[in-house]
Amino acid sequence: MSNHQNEITPLIHIVNHYQCELGEGPVWDAKRNSIIWLDIIKGNIHEYNITNSVFNTTSVHQMIGSFALCEDGHFVAALQQGLYFINKFTGEQKLIAQPEIHLPQNRFNDGKCDPAGRFWAGTMSTKDEEGVGNVYMLDKKEQLSIMIEQVTISNGLAWSLDHKTLYYIDTPTYAIVAYDYDLVSGQINNKRVVINFEKSEGYPDGMTIDTEGMLWIAHWGGWQVSRWDPNTGQKLSHFKLPVEKVTSCTFGGENYTDLYITSAKVGLTDQELQQQPLAGSLFVIPFCGFKGIAPIEFQGVGF
Ligand code: CA
Repeated sequence: MSNHQNEITPLIHIVNHYQCELGEGPVWDAKRNSIIWLDIIKGNIHEYNITNSVFNTTSVHQMIGSFALCEDGHFVAALQQGLYFINKFTGEQKLIAQPEIHLPQNRFNDGKCDPAGRFWAGTMSTKDEEGVGNVYMLDKKEQLSIMIEQVTISNGLAWSLDHKTLYYIDTPTYAIVAYDYDLVSGQINNKRVVINFEKSEGYPDGMTIDTEGMLWIAHWGGWQVSRWDPNTGQKLSHFKLPVEKVTSCTFGGENYTDLYITSAKVGLTDQELQQQPLAGSLFVIPFCGFKGIAPIEFQGVGF
């Protein structure tokens, strides 16, 4: 099957010279013409404005796993210790929920809004414990539900274009699973594996979907992002990157034609850092040949 993959080598740029320890969570903000991403370990939210090239950093003073834009322009975020609203301009935090206060070794990780504007985010152990994470759903009334239990490193989330399927990654499984998804209630069922990763290509990490319903997956330890057909499980193409730890990707730009890709340098040796001096950068592939969809905003008001 791999013989038929279409390997593409387009122009890959770095967005700016900032390098994260653990870059993650890219989100395109169309209202501001900005790309926003995270450094999980440093607890920073970074924003680079494409219009005026201004780079801005907001510290949240603890680890941050993921965030989504709110309708009012602020953020809903999954921090180390729980879910919060974050004022985009002042950095002020407003606690929403701490569902794992009894699991102090856990932290929140990847998250995203579903097509109904509810924020989903999962957790993981910071001590490499298996099966102690969960995936939560926060609705606009700030009610929290557990949606998936006993996961290890909760990562990529994407919903199908017809809003009937949730795709999900628990990284150590090397698999992408699908669930039937109910748009009205958010309930999921009928879990099945739709994609299996070759272990030699790294771990599946962050994920997004394009306008053809194909999944884009970042390879932690695999030097690439790849495009997959979740209906057949087939790998369709990939973009190679000059860094080993590729963490997440999303489409941005005026028509969502640019692919933004985050990466990490955490855990690399000095020798490895010499071999991949751009590790931790935010990359962009302008006019990558595919299009994405706008990120869904959280249908609730934080401030
Ligand atoms: Ca991740």
